[in-house]
Amino acid sequence: MANERIRNDEKAFLERHGIPEQCVADMRHRADWASCAEFMHPIDCYVAWGFRQCDLGHRLTTARGKCLQCNPASIGFMKGYWTEGYVYLLASQSEEIVKVGWSSDIEKRFRELLSERVGSVSDWQVIRTFLCGQPAALEKALHDRLVNHREVRQYMRHRISREARELFSCSKHAALRAWNEVVASRSEW
Ligand SMILES: [Zn+2]
Repeated sequence: MANERIRNDEKAFLERHGIPEQCVADMRHRADWASCAEFMHPIDCYVAWGFRQCDLGHRLTTARGKCLQCNPASIGFMKGYWTEGYVYLLASQSEEIVKVGWSSDIEKRFRELLSERVGSVSDWQVIRTFLCGQPAALEKALHDRLVNHREVRQYMRHRISREARELFSCSKHAALRAWNEVVASRSEW
């Protein structure tokens, strides 16, 4: 899209969140959000620009019109639909608990999980990793498949109580079965 139309504060925002400008689509002349999404998806754009301004004057939104500058937390999720990343399955070696998540830097993520003792588990072991084009979608499919085993745990990090999500109380073997089924359910993730 035409660079000169993006304001410097918008450029800075994109840069800060690692969003390449070719992933931003100029939506100023679209009729509605449905036509924005229709236009954006085939060209791998995940940020819409110029179709709607939020009350603060921000113009970078999702394909459905949610302001990204007010909701930067949705960026990671959205990018996961379009960026390559690793989906992982971890299991505790001492308890019947597994964790399914995704990250673009799996080694760094794994070190964090161990050092933070996420879910009060200190013996996470990597069972499977899968590099794919839509890690957030695959992660969601795995979470849906395991939903009956979902367990939310509190744990302490830097003396602050946190909530560990993405945890499931089931055996490693049950989780692996679910993993194999879901990964094989689509030829391409
Ligand atoms: Zn905003």
